[in-house]
Amino acid sequence: MHAKSGRIRELYYQPCELSSRQVATNRLLFQMSHSLISVPRQLPLGMTVAAALHPCASFPVSFGSSLGAVSDVSAAGVIGTGTHNTGIKHGIMATQVVALTLLTASGEILECSKTVNPDLHQAACVHLGCLGIVLTVTFQCVPQFCLQETTFPSTLHEVLDNLESHLKKSEYFRFLWFPHSENVSVIYQNHTNKAPSSSASWLWDYAVGYYLLEFLLWISTFLPFLVPWINRFFFWLLFTGKTENVNLSYKIFNYECRFKQHVQDWAIPIEKTKEALLQLKEILQSSPKVVAHFPVEVRFARGDDILLSPCFQRDSCYINIIMYRPYGKDVPRLDYWLAYEGLMKKLGGRPHWAKAHTCTRRDFEKMYPGFQKFCSIREELDPGGMFLNAYLEKVFY
Ligand SMILES: Cc1cc2nc3c(=O)[nH]c(=O)nc-3n(C[C@H](O)[C@H](O)[C@H](O)COP(=O)(O)OP(=O)(O)OC[C@H]3O[C@@H](n4cnc5c(N)ncnc54)[C@H](O)[C@@H]3O)c2cc1C
Repeated sequence: MHAKSGRIRELYYQPCELSSRQVATNRLLFQMSHSLISVPRQLPLGMTVAAALHPCASFPVSFGSSLGAVSDVSAAGVIGTGTHNTGIKHGIMATQVVALTLLTASGEILECSKTVNPDLHQAACVHLGCLGIVLTVTFQCVPQFCLQETTFPSTLHEVLDNLESHLKKSEYFRFLWFPHSENVSVIYQNHTNKAPSSSASWLWDYAVGYYLLEFLLWISTFLPFLVPWINRFFFWLLFTGKTENVNLSYKIFNYECRFKQHVQDWAIPIEKTKEALLQLKEILQSSPKVVAHFPVEVRFARGDDILLSPCFQRDSCYINIIMYRPYGKDVPRLDYWLAYEGLMKKLGGRPHWAKAHTCTRRDFEKMYPGFQKFCSIREELDPGGMFLNAYLEKVFY
C-alpha cells in the first residue's frame, strides 16, 4: 500500500470516532492508524466481526441475516468477497451495509450509501479489495437474539421435492448432502425465547467427528474406494438422530471448520437447485473413480442489487463442495472440481469470490450484467492499478 500522500496524512490527523453501528475494518486500519494518525483511545482498533458481536463488547449487536461460518474475520473482508450463509429471506452479508468509507488510490476519502454516491455503493459492497481501502463499514444491525437449531435426517429426494416447504419452515434453512448416497442432514434455525442449551458432546463431535474421521480420510487417500463407505458410515454414526441447540444467533450461525480443506461454492438461480443436485449425484454415480467428501452444503440467499454479488438480481442456492486435506495431505480432486464447475456454469452459476474457481474476465462478463459498470468504477478510482494483484488481473484483464 502506498499511503504516503500528504493528503491522506492531513485527513487522518483528524481524530475519528466510530458510532455504535460502525466496525473498524481490520488491522490495516490499525497499522495505518499507528503510522499516520493520532488515535483517540476509544477507537476499537482492529475490531473483527466476532468482537462486535460478543455480548461483552462495548456495543454488542446481531446481524439480522446469517453470518458466515466464522466471525474471526474483518468487516471489510467479509463484505468484500460476498460472504453469505443461509436464509432465503436474507441477502448475503454485504446487503446489510448501510454505508461505508473508502480511501481511494488518489488519497481521497469517499463515503457512499444508497443515497450518497449510490453507484459507488452498489459496487463497493462487494469490492474484491480493488476499489480502495475500506476504512469503516456501517451495518444495519438488530438487537441480539437467540436461535434454536434443530437437525434431523432426511433424503435428497425428500428435501428437493419439498424445498418450498423447508424454506418456509425455517428462516435459516440449509442442508448437508452426503455424496455417494441419498442421505441428507436437514438443519433448521429459527428465533426462540428458550434458554441456551446444547446437545454437543466431545466424544461424538471431536473424538469421532474429527479425530477418527481425519484418520479414516487419510487411509482413504491410499484406498479411495473407501470414501463412499466413510460418507455413509459417518452419516449413520453422527447424523441419524435429532439434535437441538439453543444459543445467541452468532453462536448458532458460526460453526467450526475443523479440517484443512479445498472448497468451491457457486450460487445458482434457486429454481435450478433440484436439477443441479440430481445432476451432481448422477455425475458421481457414472464416474466411480471420482470421489467426493461429505458434506455438500446447500444454502440459500435472497437476490440483491450489488454489482458483483453472486446473488445479483436473483434468489440463489449456494452449493458448496469440499475435499479435505487429512493431516495436510492433498487428495486428488481435479475431476470432481471440473465436473462440478462445468455443471455450475451450465446452470448459470456464479462462483464465490473467496473460494476456488477457474473463471476469467470472459466468464464474469457473461455472468454479471453489471460487470462493465463495476470495471468503469474501478478504472476511474484506481487508474494505475494500485490495488490489483495476480488474482484480480485474471478477473479484470
Ligand atoms: C474457516 C472459513 C470458513 C468460511 N466460511 C464461509 C461461509 O460460511 N460463507 C462464506 O460465504 N464464506 C466463508 N468463508 C470465506 C470468508 O468469508 C472470506 O474468505 C472472507 O473474505 C474472509 O474475511 P477476511 O477478513 O479473512 O478477509 P481477507 O481474506 O483478509 O480479505 C478478503 C478481501 O477483502 C480485501 N480487504 C480486506 N480488508 C480490506 C480493507 N480494509 N479495504 C479494502 N479491501 C480489503 C482483501 O484485499 C481481499 O480481497 C470462510 C473462510 C474460512 C477460512
